[in-house]
Amino acid sequence: MSVVIFSHSACNKHNLGSDHPEQPGRLHAIFDQLLSSGLDYAISHQTATSATDEQLALAHDRAYIRHVIEKNPTEGSVWLDDDTAMMNRSLEAARLAAGAAINAVDWVMQRDNAQAFCAIRPPGHHAERAQAMGFCFFNNIAIAAKYAIQHYQLSRVLILDFDVHHGNGTEQIVKDDAHILFCSSFEYPFYPHPDLTETTNILKLPLAAGSDGVAFRHGVTTKWLDKIAAFAPELVMVSAGFDAHYEDDMANLKWQEADYAWIADELKKIANRSAQGRIVACLEGGYAHSALGRSVVAMLKAWL
Ligand SMILES: [Zn+2]
Repeated sequence: MSVVIFSHSACNKHNLGSDHPEQPGRLHAIFDQLLSSGLDYAISHQTATSATDEQLALAHDRAYIRHVIEKNPTEGSVWLDDDTAMMNRSLEAARLAAGAAINAVDWVMQRDNAQAFCAIRPPGHHAERAQAMGFCFFNNIAIAAKYAIQHYQLSRVLILDFDVHHGNGTEQIVKDDAHILFCSSFEYPFYPHPDLTETTNILKLPLAAGSDGVAFRHGVTTKWLDKIAAFAPELVMVSAGFDAHYEDDMANLKWQEADYAWIADELKKIANRSAQGRIVACLEGGYAHSALGRSVVAMLKAWL
């Protein structure tokens, strides 16, 4: 088995200031923790390439892609929704974030038993087909899932989203795609205020404020694992947000590193059964820097 990290230094040129929670310090915390944990020696680092308009259009309307390109300012910042601002390097970073997810799909599809983590900013799972939202411009994981289906003729891709916020954008983009099973856990009720309707390919695990990793593990075990096994994904994809950690003030769940290690291990078992070990994870949220770094290390350690 081998673990790779795809990233690009220009992801951190998307910078709305140190008061903004979605900031470059997040990626610095991950890379620092990889080094200090001693795990870095075991991981291959690869430089991401930009997603093309054609690739972005796998999940987004052409008019929306043009809108984001036109809005990208040469100076100052502009707002695409109440939470989501762009500055002059934001489009470049967003293209690299989506590109990294595609690079990661290519990497794991062309190797045996490979796992990839995309250490990327901006995140993606709130971005809808035609709407930026919640710090997200392009839906990195949905683009890469659609790419995997189109480019490698896959018929079953799992996207498991354990960010503390529901992946509303991913749900909207994949809901009519029978090739994708989307399983999302999230604090509820909470932003982005999803409804709890499930379909054959959209499974939701709402978690009460204040609950810890035990509630999450119980929900995954009793509600998801059998359905995922029956689906038998050929590729496992993960919207890996770490804002359910008890140290993270963005939300009110109380997970610990061991919970991230647990879900990483379950994902590995799923991937080993039907997907030749292939996993692609994309960073979503996670705003308490030390907890973010430690949790990413816990996840990657479970794969190594
Ligand atoms: Zn989040």
